[in-house]
Amino acid sequence: MARKLAAGNWKMNGTGADLAEARALAERHPSPSVEVLLCPPATLIHRMAEALSGSAVMTGGQDCHAAPKGAHTGDVSAEMLAEAGASHVILGHSERRADHDESDAVVRVKVEAARRAGLVAILCVGETEAERDAGRTLDVVSTQLQGSLPTGTMAEGLVVAYEPVWAIGTGRTPTVAQIAEVHDHLRDELATAIGSGARDVPLLYGGSVKPANAAEIFAVANVDGALVGGASLKADDFSAIVAALEGAVGE
Ligand code: PEP
Repeated sequence: MARKLAAGNWKMNGTGADLAEARALAERHPSPSVEVLLCPPATLIHRMAEALSGSAVMTGGQDCHAAPKGAHTGDVSAEMLAEAGASHVILGHSERRADHDESDAVVRVKVEAARRAGLVAILCVGETEAERDAGRTLDVVSTQLQGSLPTGTMAEGLVVAYEPVWAIGTGRTPTVAQIAEVHDHLRDELATAIGSGARDVPLLYGGSVKPANAAEIFAVANVDGALVGGASLKADDFSAIVAALEGAVGE
């Protein structure tokens, strides 16, 4: 059985004052029955990890460079994230793929870097609206998954997030049947790639998850949690999503 994870992606939002939201979240969930993670901008990782030290809420990065160090101005390595206090790193987010032209091959070497540094990689896949309309959703996520998984990948240290591009930040979500179809497919694809360990890989849904729709999404088979953008910025909203995931686990 895969671990359950509620992961928040703050994107390029948050300054020191917002650490209060992270502390409030940790206070509300002193011993959660699911894993809880916040991924702030790189500038806040160290401070957030210190603020959350001793709590059950973990800290993660939103991207890393493939190399451990070197002449890569503006980049941050997986080792640096780990030293700053990160336990996880989001890789292949559609905003990175679109804004920075990240291909599956680029994402793959970043997943290798995360493993090298002892970070859990949250590998994101998802179709655009045009790809869904063309009936290509399953092909697209298969290609992204296969192209982004390093050879010899194991379940340990891997989380996969299904994030339809058209659902991110739009308030639109797929139907539960559409989410189920993709998550079942990803579980099968993982089984082909890594064998029986596939059942231990948390499969997150991401794209406009809110307190109002979280319980319905978490009731879907093969959904082991969520990657949450906007609704992770405020402790009130993210706490309600964590509680919905705990409720789904308890059922
Ligand atoms: C995301 O960016 O990973 C995301 C899911 O964003 P939102 O929840 O705001 O749609």
